[in-house]
Amino acid sequence: MSLVNPLSFVQKAREKRVAIAAFNVHNMETIQAVVEGAAEERSPVIVQTTPGTLEHAGIEYLAACVRVASDLWDIPVALHLDHCSSFETIVKCIRHGYTSVMIDGSKLPYEQNVEIVKKVVEVAHSVGVAVEAELGTVGGTEDDVIVDERETAYTVPEEAKRFVEATRVDTLAVAIGTAHGVYKGEPKMDFERLSAIRAEVDVPLVLHGASGVPDESIKEAIRRGISKVNIATELKIPMAETIKNILQSDPSENDPRRYMGEAKEAVKQVVKRKIRLCGCSGLAANL
Ligand SMILES: [Zn+2]
Repeated sequence: MSLVNPLSFVQKAREKRVAIAAFNVHNMETIQAVVEGAAEERSPVIVQTTPGTLEHAGIEYLAACVRVASDLWDIPVALHLDHCSSFETIVKCIRHGYTSVMIDGSKLPYEQNVEIVKKVVEVAHSVGVAVEAELGTVGGTEDDVIVDERETAYTVPEEAKRFVEATRVDTLAVAIGTAHGVYKGEPKMDFERLSAIRAEVDVPLVLHGASGVPDESIKEAIRRGISKVNIATELKIPMAETIKNILQSDPSENDPRRYMGEAKEAVKQVVKRKIRLCGCSGLAANL
């Protein structure tokens, strides 16, 4: 199938009280692992790249690879730009076939966040591309998005309502206690706040920083209204661990097909597990 706007399947997931898993990819093998894993689970999937990954691999390579993966498998695949604060990069990605973009103005004062999101929504909606925005700030580090834990600000439900109405954004990333990167202790999620946001806001909600959050907490977040779960760090770890193990146990190994091949399989297993956790296995068949 060709790449699709994810909104229809994210809405479907919301109706069914499950969530769509969205995975950050970095190269061909991670793209293959994500799309093949989703196809084996018969689940729609969101493949996403940060601006840092665009710099690493190039928009052209990434968009082409994801398009090919999507053509090869019979499940809906969306290509999403994660955490982008540049209007120009967003326009570039849309021109290269991205079907969804996140404009991250969460570090800006409220009014400026509203302004930039409105501007992106206007352009993206005119060509059928979905827009995600963030209100409040998810702490931790993801590429060049570095938020000091002390600056982490939780999403305020009433403000979220006003924000969604003012911007007409399609999905909203909420800050409820998760953080990007690797957790030092167990994250404490503010589920009451999530329920309060859900009650005020009528668009699907997105959970960032889900890597390392216990399965039960992810399930609880989905029960309370999360419809998209972002996974980044939890794919990086099995990839790096697999490669490290192979090269440490056999320092003469130099064939990328072996160490990248095994790393891809390890990533794929995590992809499948996360999709099952989110409850969206089999959903592709019902779309
Ligand atoms: Zn994020």
